[in-house]
Amino acid sequence: MSESWRNWSGSVAAEPAAIERPKTEAELQALVARAAKVRVVGAGHSFMPLCATDGLLLQLGDLDGELEVSADRQSAWAPAGWPIGKLTDAMWEKGVSLVNQGDINKQAIAGAISTATHGTGRALGSLATAALAFRIVLADGSVVECDAEREPELFQAARVSLGMLGVVTRIKLKVMPAYRLKETIERRPLGRTLAEWDELANRHRHAEFFLFPYSEHVTLKTLDIADAGEADAPEEADDTVFQAVCDLATVWPRTAPTLQRMLTRAIRSSERSGPAGRIFPSERSVRFEEMEYEIPAENGPDALRAAMKLVRDAGWPIIFPFEFRTVAADDIWLSPMQGRACVSISFHQYARMPWREAFAGVEKVFQAAGGRPHWAKRHTLTSADVLRLYPDAQRFGAVRKRVDPTAKFLNAHLAELFAFSL
Ligand SMILES: Cc1cc2nc3c(=O)[nH]c(=O)nc-3n(C[C@H](O)[C@H](O)[C@H](O)COP(=O)(O)OP(=O)(O)OC[C@H]3O[C@@H](n4cnc5c(N)ncnc54)[C@H](O)[C@@H]3O)c2cc1C
Repeated sequence: MSESWRNWSGSVAAEPAAIERPKTEAELQALVARAAKVRVVGAGHSFMPLCATDGLLLQLGDLDGELEVSADRQSAWAPAGWPIGKLTDAMWEKGVSLVNQGDINKQAIAGAISTATHGTGRALGSLATAALAFRIVLADGSVVECDAEREPELFQAARVSLGMLGVVTRIKLKVMPAYRLKETIERRPLGRTLAEWDELANRHRHAEFFLFPYSEHVTLKTLDIADAGEADAPEEADDTVFQAVCDLATVWPRTAPTLQRMLTRAIRSSERSGPAGRIFPSERSVRFEEMEYEIPAENGPDALRAAMKLVRDAGWPIIFPFEFRTVAADDIWLSPMQGRACVSISFHQYARMPWREAFAGVEKVFQAAGGRPHWAKRHTLTSADVLRLYPDAQRFGAVRKRVDPTAKFLNAHLAELFAFSL
């Protein structure tokens, strides 16, 4: 009997022919070899229909495997289906931490890497830049390991692959000796924050801010390595008040600007510290829809101002803030950060409120600023856009076709986006 499937925000639904949770690699190999169409889902946190399929949907949460940390504490082999939170807790036990993380720790590590999920930090790349090797079950059920020396083209393609090459079962990650972080939250004027952005981004290991489009103040969040002596602070506040505000805006959309200004005024300065893996993630219990573009760093502040102006001029009742982060350049074929240092600007809306018109408008602003979208978040790229934006798209396509000639791992969305590789 088929089970239905939905993504985290509720905007993508599918009726897979079967959902399987293999316990061993041999079981997984047999399932892949037999199936005509396969997609893998991590935690289902993508907003685009990356995991949607009417074929076989695989979930690797039950697959056996352990974390293996190298003696020099510089790398670790991890089960690909583990949620990041489980991974970082296990890493802490073994004396290592990830170099950087994003806003939450619910994603499977393979899901996060496959879409170039990132945190913030001018000198730090996306999670995909931490991948040193992959173990992959290919379309015919065979297993291959690849890294910079073994199957280097497959490795390059696998670093950001949207699950198009096969099922990743284990990933070797660059890690570092375990460290603690101190988080500082502060309310600041937008103008001053943008004027001082270079200095802020250089001074802190991680700097980012949140900005409601109808407010002139931001919530600045910085993270820096903490001394071992600094005391752990209580868990951060929950989202109950924000949930109530979003529900109010759903009923009375015109109140959105006033509600936003109230929320911004209520922000209090705070600090907390603890193990890195516990301080990076935040609570995100209010469901939203999201678009995000990675924009050449020098264009970031103007793009943000232009997007704000558009929202205000149109009067769209956006109740969620923009998020403004930095990500280092990388050399990954399908990475939005390929070849250029970026600022990442996210635009969200409460999942129960309309978002399509506002996203379409703001997407044009981000594209005019030279942006490439986050693959997992709302975008309207075509196959021609992928070829235009990604100089190595054809190289990726050639690897994809070699390892999966019948396009077993492509769903309708990916077959359209990567039509040039068929
Ligand atoms: C609340 C929330 C917060 C977020 N915060 C951030 C953030 O801070 N930074 C950021 O950049 N993004 C962020 N995102 C986006 C999110 O990180 C990506 O959508 C990510 O891909 C989700 O991971 P997942 O495990 O849910 O993957 P899924 O959405 O389940 O899958 C993503 C892709 O990975 C593939 N995949 C998954 N597992 C495997 C595997 N084992 N082998 C091969 N392919 C696989 C899937 O087929 C699919 O193509 C956020 C999303 C939400 C909902």
